[in-house]
Amino acid sequence: MSKRVRVRFAPSPTGGLHLGGVRTVLYNYLFAKKYGGDFLVRIEDTDQTRYVPGAEEYIFDTLKWCGLEPDESVQHGGSYGPYRQSERKESYRRYAEQLVQDGHAYYAFDTPEELEKMRQDFKTPENPSPQYDQTIRMKMRNSLTLSREDTAALLAAGTRHVIRIKMPAGETVSFTDMIRGEVSFDTGTVDDKVLLKADGMPTYHLAVVVDDQGMQISHAFRGEEWLPSAPVHILLWKYLFGLDQMPQWAHFPLILGPNGKLSKRDGAKYGFPVFAMNWADPKTGERTEGFKEKGFLPEAFINLLALLGWNEGTEQEIYSREELIEKFSMERVHSSGAKFDYEKAKWFNHEWMKRVDVHRLKPEVKALLSEKAIPVPDDKLLEKVIGLVKDRCTLLTDFVEQSSFFFATPETIDTGAVKPKWNEAKQLFFAELVRNYELADTWDAHTLENNFKEIASVNDLKPGELMLPFRIMLVGGKFGPGVFEIAAIIGKTDTIKRIETTLQLLK
Ligand code: GLU
Repeated sequence: MSKRVRVRFAPSPTGGLHLGGVRTVLYNYLFAKKYGGDFLVRIEDTDQTRYVPGAEEYIFDTLKWCGLEPDESVQHGGSYGPYRQSERKESYRRYAEQLVQDGHAYYAFDTPEELEKMRQDFKTPENPSPQYDQTIRMKMRNSLTLSREDTAALLAAGTRHVIRIKMPAGETVSFTDMIRGEVSFDTGTVDDKVLLKADGMPTYHLAVVVDDQGMQISHAFRGEEWLPSAPVHILLWKYLFGLDQMPQWAHFPLILGPNGKLSKRDGAKYGFPVFAMNWADPKTGERTEGFKEKGFLPEAFINLLALLGWNEGTEQEIYSREELIEKFSMERVHSSGAKFDYEKAKWFNHEWMKRVDVHRLKPEVKALLSEKAIPVPDDKLLEKVIGLVKDRCTLLTDFVEQSSFFFATPETIDTGAVKPKWNEAKQLFFAELVRNYELADTWDAHTLENNFKEIASVNDLKPGELMLPFRIMLVGGKFGPGVFEIAAIIGKTDTIKRIETTLQLLK
């Protein structure tokens, strides 16, 4: 690769970040790191009507949580700024004007009413929504149909206008997509997109090309939904800067939900998160759940996203960020849609739960417990408990159930699970166990287990049948790690108190 690798993520600040958006960030990031290049974030906020307050901060918070921080951005600085398109407004007009001068674009003065009339007048059963294109442009009010003088007069009078690209007729434009290979388009099928709007802001089409050039982008990666815009961008590259300057493109496959393209609505409908973090739309109040708050580890989240559309061609599924940087390649990204499976996503998280160490989890578990008002013990004890239960937690949020009984008496005791097989002999066994434990001077899992088994054997009872009741007494339900380890951690007083409380309930 001759040019320095420079890639960008170019979100519009219109809402929360969908899985697909974070995957675009991830693939950009991996590619940049793999080739020792730069990853930048450019905020594409030229459509002021779609601007949503808070969305920009949300994007950066998400990248931080995922550990995918850019090298350059509004927040990180860099020498190709400003990194917010609204602050680059002045730079776009001259390119649009240059296109007009070169005959590749034109001024269009049509009012919204005239445009509406065009859509009505040219509507046919075959073409229900006619577009401003080469078949129609000569019937509209623009610098192609007006005389030079009339156009100049309208411009001099400050008449509202846009600048549109003049799509050539019957040309084929093609480019080589790093994932899809050669892709060709017939220019005749594309409408004359607006490049500069009446408010002087560029549209995405003009801004993306001008900024990718200005920021020296070597590779432009984005979702498949942008593929239809590619011919417009290629022509703009050709007209403004020359095709040899154009970045290499790759269009990532769609992420599919249970019914076609994964949508926010799927999340609410099927009960899984679709955004990276919780998002509340300030305009509509609509809330969308995020992977972070659902209890996913960022390590697992990026791992599962990496595999939504890419694989190395082996059976390996668990990858650290470093390994992904080493192994990722654009050529192995699939061109067809990648199906999102929430059960599989949880599997990834569980695998990562087993892999990350106790210290990594401690701050998160602490925060979770205090959120639920569960008294958090000293660090040593907390570490021990995390070590004991983490393999049983699929999501971080499972720590609440899996560990709170260590620190607080269970609120409910599932006596129903014990009652059917409860009898006098078991009642007596636990009474004896209490007496024995009261006298114990060593309180460790091994001693507690030995004493338990000895009393069972003397009374001719099977220890296996006594373990479940013991667990229910200490934990409240049928879960948790080894029951003697639990007893060892909760200590003599609490163990005895919990046995006695349940014995009362079972009487
Ligand atoms: N602003 C576009 C978006 O919101 C960026 C597309 C691109 O990366 O070129 O997705």
